[in-house]
Amino acid sequence: MTKVSLPVEGGCQCGELRYQVNQPPLMIYCCHCSNCQKISGSAFAVSATIMEASFEFTSGEPRKTTWTSDAGNQRYGYICGECGTRIAHGQEPSIGVLSLRAGTFDDTSWVEPAGHIWIKSAQSWMNFGTDDILCDVQPTDYTPFVEKFKAQGHFES
Ligand SMILES: [Zn+2]
Ligand SMILES: [Zn+2]
Repeated sequence: MTKVSLPVEGGCQCGELRYQVNQPPLMIYCCHCSNCQKISGSAFAVSATIMEASFEFTSGEPRKTTWTSDAGNQRYGYICGECGTRIAHGQEPSIGVLSLRAGTFDDTSWVEPAGHIWIKSAQSWMNFGTDDILCDVQPTDYTPFVEKFKAQGHFES
């Protein structure tokens, strides 16, 4: 398997915002919460959990927006002010990680969710894989996601 090399680069749809991530993501999952459905205008969001310190914008200034998550946390999002693409979400106070919209990576060929959260509000037509990790709401422990992502072996460890 070809390993993904660091930094991982990506950006918004119009190219105004560019970023890089210089450590491997911790995990990738799909979120089916009502906020992610609204924000994406779709059925779920594909998120890569990354260390906040490993992330930086390399060009452009993001716009910031805030909201309260389905779990009651104060969340903020970095958005392109030109094209409206969501790049990453964080939390205040910081929990040390960002959830990056995995579809904004330049190369998404390695992006493979370990599982699904908030399936309580998933669309009724969703078909989950038999070995997908499934959580009704927000999991308290993401260890199974982290281990499954690591086992996919996309990054040098
Ligand atoms: Zn843009
Ligand atoms: Zn969500």
